[in-house]
Amino acid sequence: MKYQLWITAVVALAVACDDPTEPPPTTDGMHWPPGQIDIVIDPSVGTMDPDAATHIKAAFYTWVHQADIPITFSFETRACDAWDNCVEAESPWEWSNPEAAAITDLVYVSDGIKSASIIFNTENWKWSTSGEFVSTLTRDIQTAALHEAGHVLGLIEHSDDPEATMFAEIGWDVDRTLSQEDIDSVRELYNERSRRD
Ligand SMILES: [Zn+2]
Repeated sequence: MKYQLWITAVVALAVACDDPTEPPPTTDGMHWPPGQIDIVIDPSVGTMDPDAATHIKAAFYTWVHQADIPITFSFETRACDAWDNCVEAESPWEWSNPEAAAITDLVYVSDGIKSASIIFNTENWKWSTSGEFVSTLTRDIQTAALHEAGHVLGLIEHSDDPEATMFAEIGWDVDRTLSQEDIDSVRELYNERSRRD
């Protein structure tokens, strides 16, 4: 545990209705409608590793293939615009926790997720795609992206199980697959909605 660090989810609430008689918004059970989520990969991720984008895409696809949820992803590589679902690398790191390896910034509207962005910390951490141990200060891009992609899909709560992808800390080891708990959590999130529909 010595070399682990926190991955945090930043959740921003954007409320369409400002009526003070409305109950406060909740993110419980919120997710994307079934279908395609368009992801923009900012060229800044290339500063992490030349193959970073390939491994980030693989992390997103792992959720679809392993958990079999009614979601697909499209990817485009270009500079992100406002409201894009953006994946980018940031240095200097401007978020409050300098130890965070990466964060996901989620924006909700009243009936679901509006946008989500993943930001990797390239000021304070080194990154790799080798799939092998590099150094105690180096993190596997795909392992971290798999965790953040879970937040993008709407999994806000962290797992208590250190073996789960949605555990709050990432070590220097490589784990590019979901645990059964991760699979069950995301399936519950998407199946509940389809029952309501
Ligand atoms: Zn997290």
